[in-house]
Amino acid sequence: AIPLVVAINTSLAAQNGMLVRDRIAMEQARELDSIIFDKTGTLTKGEHGVVGIETVGAVDEDEALKLAAAVESDSEHMIARAIREAADKRSIDAPDASNFEAMKGRGVRATVEGEEVYVGGPNLLDHLDAGVPSALATFAEEAGENAQTVVYLVREGELTAAFAMADVIREESYAAVDALHDLDIEVAMLTGDSSDVANAVADELGIDTVFAEVLPEDKDKKVQELQDQGKLVGMVGDGVNDAPALTRADVGIAIGSGTDVAVQSADVILVQSNPMDVVRLVKLSKASYRKMQ
Ligand code: ADP
Ligand code: MG
Repeated sequence: AIPLVVAINTSLAAQNGMLVRDRIAMEQARELDSIIFDKTGTLTKGEHGVVGIETVGAVDEDEALKLAAAVESDSEHMIARAIREAADKRSIDAPDASNFEAMKGRGVRATVEGEEVYVGGPNLLDHLDAGVPSALATFAEEAGENAQTVVYLVREGELTAAFAMADVIREESYAAVDALHDLDIEVAMLTGDSSDVANAVADELGIDTVFAEVLPEDKDKKVQELQDQGKLVGMVGDGVNDAPALTRADVGIAIGSGTDVAVQSADVILVQSNPMDVVRLVKLSKASYRKMQ
């Protein structure tokens, strides 16, 4: 009888836009204690737009945008897309960049007009051991309070500009967090973004636990941390960076807009990018497996 129930469950899941890759995980979903969501692209739309630029020294806004767009010309990241779009809007032509290097969870670097240029977030500054001039620190603080992601331009070792980018929280994220709380599930958020932004988004949504400024190689350790507390943990993500955490989780859930790597690491794939589908998944698991007992 068990295989039949499982089969019905799987097709029910499919009707609800869920592709089950691991049936045991699907069964475990009904007992989850915690669900960790990736922030960018999962709880938010990941559609950044540049909303502010601050520069120091001789560089003006257009010059900063030009250099940043050049360094970001090869990057797939949504931050890169936002910077290129902002340059386009001002009709700025980015010069060619060479020696491009993507630094996972930190930013990008390249050679532009003979200079070494970096664009990246707080993790990049830590890595370069670069101090933030006070004008940029104030700008970044204000942006962070407004849940805006800040990335910095470092030119020949000097921090010369900061860009503030606004993302949009998905409408369904609010209801999803509330519904998971109603099911007695703790909700956590995991992100490589700054703790300012992470906390602002978490406060807005009522999220219980925040892991911010986490490097891609450390994301699975945060899942493990909750598991070590004896919790059964679900992880929801979309990015290449989320793959190890999805694998580590008791129930790994990739959302529709996710990258191939995320999808291949997940136990369940949500066809759409709707956080409410995570709630439906838990409820479906509870409803289906109760019948088996
Ligand atoms: P998340 O965990 O929020 O999905 P990532 O791990 O992709 O984010 O990136 C973490 C941080 O690394 C970003 O918030 C940003 O500060 C920096 N970063 C990553 N890629 C880039 C890029 N192409 N340009 C600038 N900054 C980047
Ligand atoms: Mg993401």
